[in-house]
Amino acid sequence: MINKDHPRYESLKLRDKIVEAYKSGILADAGMIAHGRGEAFDYLIGEKTTQTSLNAIESAAAALLLANNPVISINGNATALVAEKIVDLAHVLNAKIEINLFYRTPQRVKAIEKILKEHGAHEIMGTEDNDQVQMEDISSHRGKVSHEGIYKADVVLVPLEDGDRTEALVKEGKFVIAIDLNPLSRTSKTASITIVDNITRIIPCLISEVSFLKKKSPDELKKIVCNFNNARNLEESLKVMLNSIKEFDSL
Ligand code: ATP
Repeated sequence: MINKDHPRYESLKLRDKIVEAYKSGILADAGMIAHGRGEAFDYLIGEKTTQTSLNAIESAAAALLLANNPVISINGNATALVAEKIVDLAHVLNAKIEINLFYRTPQRVKAIEKILKEHGAHEIMGTEDNDQVQMEDISSHRGKVSHEGIYKADVVLVPLEDGDRTEALVKEGKFVIAIDLNPLSRTSKTASITIVDNITRIIPCLISEVSFLKKKSPDELKKIVCNFNNARNLEESLKVMLNSIKEFDSL
């Protein structure tokens, strides 16, 4: 039990969720390492949503609203941290959720499916092995996606994804929205829009932004997406991180 007075309460609470998810078989051991890497970058942006992240969230919301067939990919980390909010986001967007795991086992898929259903998810893709198809440009099981989910999607939201798979999705012609605290990762650089922020803060923000932008016309939404430049936004995120190091330097 973590004491609420602890200065690192929020961060420790998330770490607890990750450890619990690992113990219950939702998360692979490598998922804990990925979380630790994320924590380090979160420190550098001050563990808060920056204006740079808000700009990416706005464009991501617009792209998701313009999609004909949006799919939200979910893995062990996302389930451990924001399963309920992902289900809420899928509802406001009328999007499908696909369980898409780097370390896929039938037990892990079942455990994640159960949690999503408990939170009211309707359309969950990626639960059946016979629905899986292989993407080109990526070898073995890591390139598998659901035929009715990501394979047919035009816009895919991928939280905490690995670089090879992001690249393969982009090559397949998908508009990829990545969530990644590391602006230097291959995923961040390859995606169409990357939101450099913690997934726990992003998903609630994304839900509000989608609800707000729903009133806009397709032309207005297209303008928002066209005005977004991923490389420039990543550069801005890096500047935020470098500034936080410089501030420390002047202490
Ligand atoms: P790439 O292959 O894209 O270069 P990688 O090898 O780092 O990246 P993974 O190990 O799959 O790929 O990493 C997942 C990413 O998720 C990490 O870059 C990490 O910073 C990020 N991450 C971890 N936890 C969170 C979180 N809570 N919110 C947002 N991003 C996170």
